[in-house]
Amino acid sequence: MAASMASQAAVRGLRTTATKRVLLDKLQCSWLTPRRWLNLQEYQSKKLMQDSGVAVQRFYVADTASEAQEAAKRLNAKEIVLKAQILAGGRGKGVFDSGLKGGVHLTKDPAVVGELAKRMLGFNLITKQTPKDGVKVKTVMVAEALDISRETYFAILMDRACNGPVMVGSPQGGMDIEEVAASTPELIFKEVIDIYKGVQDDQALRMAANLGFKGPLQRQAADQIKRLYDLFLKVDATQVEVNPLGETPEGQVVCFDAKINFDDNAEFRQKDVFAMDDMTESDATEMEAAKWDLKYIGMDGNIACFVNGAGLAMATCDIIDLHGGKPANFLDLGGGVKERQVYEAFKLLTADPKVKANCQQKWFASLSLSQLHHMNQAHQ
Ligand code: ADP
Ligand code: MG
Repeated sequence: MAASMASQAAVRGLRTTATKRVLLDKLQCSWLTPRRWLNLQEYQSKKLMQDSGVAVQRFYVADTASEAQEAAKRLNAKEIVLKAQILAGGRGKGVFDSGLKGGVHLTKDPAVVGELAKRMLGFNLITKQTPKDGVKVKTVMVAEALDISRETYFAILMDRACNGPVMVGSPQGGMDIEEVAASTPELIFKEVIDIYKGVQDDQALRMAANLGFKGPLQRQAADQIKRLYDLFLKVDATQVEVNPLGETPEGQVVCFDAKINFDDNAEFRQKDVFAMDDMTESDATEMEAAKWDLKYIGMDGNIACFVNGAGLAMATCDIIDLHGGKPANFLDLGGGVKERQVYEAFKLLTADPKVKANCQQKWFASLSLSQLHHMNQAHQ
């Protein structure tokens, strides 16, 4: 699963630290999605892709080693790929705290799938996009592996600068797209989509050619691009990212990885999609904050931030950073914040054992201790 930040980096040619990447990844959603963030696992995104006629490999999902073993037998494929399901990218190059290297394993022997799954399930997978202790793997995807002769990068995202959807692609896809964006930005191609007209044939073909698809593969890739755009619209996505969009020696264009972000404002008409959110990887504090309509993201520093406005909150985090401090969190209270939300936000910040200081806006700073005490009493 590639990071959605990869495409942001692709657009802007930026290189960011892992912490900032996670923050920006979430913020990208928070600006567009004021209530909560929906994240789907790769297998769930691939199910949506399948339903839209996008080419993905055959797969099963397993929660236990024996189920994984059984799935490998049922697939009856020449080669099998076992993929840890966590809501972070960089799995291919990740490491488990069981000692196993790689969250994506290829094997020609279905008999070893159970053993591999045993070393994945219940263990934490650490990638460059996870917190430093990694994320516990509860599910694995057992899929048919295909030979990949070439890996490209393709994404469609809502881009503020273009006021609408943009396609971003690179012929140099695979696991290091951020590196490609940073060192060879000329290999990143963009096509702005007119939301009223949709992806035009010539745009899809041009993007396919820029991705390096030749002959009949160019038309096939253009067709996949159009189907991915249909899916983007159908599910109210803010981003659909495929890395790699690969080519097989048999002449097939296949989506080997999938990451979709959704516009939470569309929850009312995307009930089936939102029902897939199991929240099991969500941080407890972030979930509590979301309950009160607060945009909170935990970070590793010790200076709590208490701000209204995402831009101001980002600037506050940056200023702390510039002066050698480390923010303990990002918190955007939003414009129309109510007293109860202020109270709940203070509760969240003061309950964080890492917090040694607080950085807050003047208005909030002017609340006296007795006013806070009064609020506390009122909400007991
Ligand atoms: P991540 O982006 O989290 O590292 P990917 O799903 O992109 O995970 O997998 C990492 C790499 O594993 C891919 O770039 C590709 O080379 C390989 N891979 C993934 N799925 C398959 C597959 N079905 N068949 C063959 N190779 C695969
Ligand atoms: Mg990937």
